[in-house]
Amino acid sequence: MPAMYFGLTCEPMLALLGIAAGFGFTLSYFTLGNSKRASIKRQKGAKLKDSGGVCRNGCGNSGEIGCSSGGKQRILIIIAHPDDECMFFGPTILHFTRDSNSEVYLLCLSKGNYRGEGAVRTKELWESCKVLGVAQQNVILYNSDALPDNPHVMWPTTRTANIISHHANSLDIDMIITFDRRGVSGHINHCSVYSAVKYLVEMGTLPPGCIAYSLDSVSVLRKYSSVMDLSLSFILSSCVFTVDFQNCLILKAAMRCYQSQYVWYRKLYMIFSRYIFINTLSEIKA
Ligand SMILES: [Zn+2]
Repeated sequence: MPAMYFGLTCEPMLALLGIAAGFGFTLSYFTLGNSKRASIKRQKGAKLKDSGGVCRNGCGNSGEIGCSSGGKQRILIIIAHPDDECMFFGPTILHFTRDSNSEVYLLCLSKGNYRGEGAVRTKELWESCKVLGVAQQNVILYNSDALPDNPHVMWPTTRTANIISHHANSLDIDMIITFDRRGVSGHINHCSVYSAVKYLVEMGTLPPGCIAYSLDSVSVLRKYSSVMDLSLSFILSSCVFTVDFQNCLILKAAMRCYQSQYVWYRKLYMIFSRYIFINTLSEIKA
């Protein structure tokens, strides 16, 4: 007969101990290591900070990319629908809006009118961005019949790329952050945005020195593992953004701005999704 511990055989007991250790690690991380603000955690020489980029305005700050006018790096978050910013990009946005060396812009490429709620969601987008700390004048909503909010419509890559390129160049953007090719939730509009940014990277038509990053999509198991995915994120990713419990509440407050969308399954999402606590990014390369 195998050894028993509290009525359990050895293997389940070890599994429980592993889970308890994981909880202990993540709990101590959030309460001790990350207790003040949303913080960026960079590993393995991630390029977000030390890209070897050269300040194109000659500010002398060669260790940081960007350094646009005023010495700030200009970050452009590109989303497909109102609410993407707090459902998926929250830890990233909170990091950069708290960073005095960064100016955050948000480009939303549709009103989210799939169920005829575009007008309401537009207002909710601005409220959400206010909670997240994105300056109201830095929020850009693009509305075109060519880019409908529709999970069955792939947006035309060249047209979408031209819109993005126009805004990135006119704002002198240093860093673009958007979805990856799987779009996190698999929504085809999200994937369209990635395809357009990838196209711009390959064509070399982003502003000089501008680097593009995509938000990593993960498996369903990891997606709904909440903070339990923290260890694996650090192991597998070179660029990780996390939030503490206090900033997690700010993200939930931002999501509550979307009363038109805040149905029961999105409330559950805000509890269990790892994207509320963790973002991992990868550079989009040609
Ligand atoms: Zn979306």
